[in-house]
Amino acid sequence: MTDTEHYHAIAAQSSAVPTLLCGRCRSTLSRGRIFRNGERHNFDINCDTVALCSADDCGALNCCDEALKGLEGAAELISKAS
Ligand SMILES: [Zn+2]
Repeated sequence: MTDTEHYHAIAAQSSAVPTLLCGRCRSTLSRGRIFRNGERHNFDINCDTVALCSADDCGALNCCDEALKGLEGAAELISKAS
């Protein structure tokens, strides 16, 4: 595997609003840190939607594709970031 190291975001099913959690530290991934890969930022991973954890001691790169599939209102979550 030569992929850049990354984690897989987790959909917070219990939340009232669509929320993604960092796959490493389980912090909430804020909307402003979720990007379409290749749009404003280009990450070298095979993933359409990526998020950067905002926790100071984490900063993990998360792939959101799998989590977004099971998340209602996921499109809205991303469009706000542009
Ligand atoms: Zn994190």
